[in-house]
Amino acid sequence: MAIETKVGVYLCSGCTIGECLNMDELAKVATDECKIPVCKTDSWLCNEKGIETIKKDIETEGLNRIVIGACSNRFLSDEFKFGPNVMVDRVNLRENVVWTHKPNDEDTQMLGSDYLRMGIAKVKTSEIPEPFTTEINETILVVGGGVAGMTSALACADAGYSVLLTEKEPVLGGWLNKTYKAVSTSMPFTELEDTGLEELVAKVDDNDKIKVITSCLIKKISGQPGQFTVTLKIKNEVQKEPLTVGAIVQATGWKQYNPDKLGHLGFGKFDNVITNLQVEEYFKTGKDNSAMNGKPIKSFAFIQCAGSRDENHLPYCSSVCCTASLKQAMLIREKYPDALIYIIYKDIRTLAQNELFYKRVQEEDNIFFTKGEVGELTKDSDGSITIDIDKSLLGDKIQIKSDVVILATGMVPSTLPGDVALENDSANPEEESNLDGKKEAESAEVGAKILNLTYRQGTDLPTLKYGFPDSHYICFPYETRRTGIYAAGTVRSPMDITAVKNDAYGASLKAIQLITAAKLGKAVHPRSGDQSYPDFFLQRCTQCKRCTEECPFGTLDEDDKGTPLPNITRCRRCGICLGSCPERIISFKDYSINMISSMIKSVEIPDEFEEKPRILAFLCENDAYPSLDIVGKYRMQFDPNVRVIPVKCLGAVNVVWIADALSRGFDGILLIGCKHGDDYQCHFIKGSELAEKRMDNVQEKLKQLVLEPERVQIHQLSIDEYKKLPVLFNEFVEEITEMGLNPYKGM
Ligand code: SF4
Ligand code: SF4
Repeated sequence: MAIETKVGVYLCSGCTIGECLNMDELAKVATDECKIPVCKTDSWLCNEKGIETIKKDIETEGLNRIVIGACSNRFLSDEFKFGPNVMVDRVNLRENVVWTHKPNDEDTQMLGSDYLRMGIAKVKTSEIPEPFTTEINETILVVGGGVAGMTSALACADAGYSVLLTEKEPVLGGWLNKTYKAVSTSMPFTELEDTGLEELVAKVDDNDKIKVITSCLIKKISGQPGQFTVTLKIKNEVQKEPLTVGAIVQATGWKQYNPDKLGHLGFGKFDNVITNLQVEEYFKTGKDNSAMNGKPIKSFAFIQCAGSRDENHLPYCSSVCCTASLKQAMLIREKYPDALIYIIYKDIRTLAQNELFYKRVQEEDNIFFTKGEVGELTKDSDGSITIDIDKSLLGDKIQIKSDVVILATGMVPSTLPGDVALENDSANPEEESNLDGKKEAESAEVGAKILNLTYRQGTDLPTLKYGFPDSHYICFPYETRRTGIYAAGTVRSPMDITAVKNDAYGASLKAIQLITAAKLGKAVHPRSGDQSYPDFFLQRCTQCKRCTEECPFGTLDEDDKGTPLPNITRCRRCGICLGSCPERIISFKDYSINMISSMIKSVEIPDEFEEKPRILAFLCENDAYPSLDIVGKYRMQFDPNVRVIPVKCLGAVNVVWIADALSRGFDGILLIGCKHGDDYQCHFIKGSELAEKRMDNVQEKLKQLVLEPERVQIHQLSIDEYKKLPVLFNEFVEEITEMGLNPYKGM
């Protein structure tokens, strides 16, 4: 049986609110107009006495909805919490009203009253979310048994979680199996040392909580966080019994940038042009290569950034190649003490304490550093290579003659599809479809098939242009676009061993956090702790597939007819599906079509004769809405005719609200969300971009209604651009005033 909604309104006259607004008038909005039975004003609501009054009223009056008219909800959030059965809404009278508008002014008073009406409408049309709970498996699957995978497995096991560690090769170790020596990671950071592979493998093998399966590929992963069903293929045999895991760390590492693409640096053309991996193999195994083959060698030249930091190849820095060349220069020095060693670089980039190793190598005899851009390589009659170098440190063109040329090739992630690597290709070679007959998503963003997810949107983690799994580069790098699956190590970004280990800890903590949150029925980042989730009234679904296509996190699979099949623990609670649905049948308990429509309808619209425009602004809760608090903090003033509604994401704006607002008599509508594009800041990846696409339909609709398209505008804003907000508001009000009021007002 539905519990009766009982609302109490508490207004604070502190923090200058009472000096700028008529509190009695405001209280009358609650009591006389909205018929709220309990409404109290306090001069210092957040102090002990004020909070105690609210708590007592909850107990004696049976209140279950509290509207606090005071400061922003970003302040005192714990103080104004009254337990799981009481919903609280904060009406921001301080930052959004009195700190940003003229005191004791009719328009400011109207603004405060409207926000109070909206807050009351909001709690009256919302329900208290109940967490989605289901059985959660706590085993963590770590895919990839290199440094990242083994470190992650140990981190999860040390935290008390069972781990399943899979490796496609017959042994653990990944690239460390092919690495001869490492640069020291302890004081004084100037020596070479063993890689530590054996100790690391032994630790993993000795840990009871870690089950290692080698020669193992992932045949299929279905399900959702807390309940992933994993089918393994061990030594080419598909396992009949699938396993269940709760979260996944993908640590599948990197592969070499294909040196065949480096013909301009002589690879494949001259047999004494080799790669840094061939040099490492030479030292590790003693196996000769085309250049280091027992013949006397008098000179070596390393060409740095071979393929990296090059717009025609990999535009990014591969991060480790400088240190690798410094290390190999030292190894060569030991083996060929009289040889001259040249390192030709764009910049030497040695991370963290590796700088100390760089300094040490600089001091060595016979190792020479030459800054410059490598031009043509030609083979001389004696077999040596002459390298043309432009833009050397002194600006001159110079030439270096060397018996052996070593290319410091870059890193590409194992998730990059295609035949990129010549050797040591760590991508899953299996190309067959694992989608159980379902058509693979059209998305070109999905990389190489490694995890073989049965998601409607594709088999693997969506990736960025160069194959690295997509994540929010500023706010949450480990989070991929598949909830419960975290990328760790060089599959996520080029990095050295120290960084790989740290990264593995980060991803492991995320996997553990996911399991903990899923057990409580709560969302993970960026809406950590949110208990609300989308509910689909499928009886009215037209199978248009918009929600299943637009969900950025692959939450929704679909049946043969196209009806969405939600997997709630995959959901990040962004509300984009709600924004996408033309039938308006998706809702959250505390964020719904009805709730926002009621808030819009609660605003008092002056009639056309008063000539006061009304602007509705939907602001994304992640950057734009918090910016408004900063605007308030700095007392920046803006037009009092704007009414702001915060939304989960700009993608969570359903176009019906725009129609509602225009028919209610609003004169113009602003939508302000995060930046999108390559360096997007949208916390839900695609939300603000999708909102912009949907605006095309809105503009079309406006034309049909013979309304100016400029009445609805969309903008991007990052939080550091908060100063733009008041300007945006003021200019828009001016533009609308010039355009004239909404002709449908009052109809
Ligand atoms: S669009 Fe967002 S809220 Fe909707 S199902 Fe996907 S993740 Fe969840
Ligand atoms: S967007 Fe709405 S109508 Fe379309 S498939 Fe999804 S739930 Fe059904």
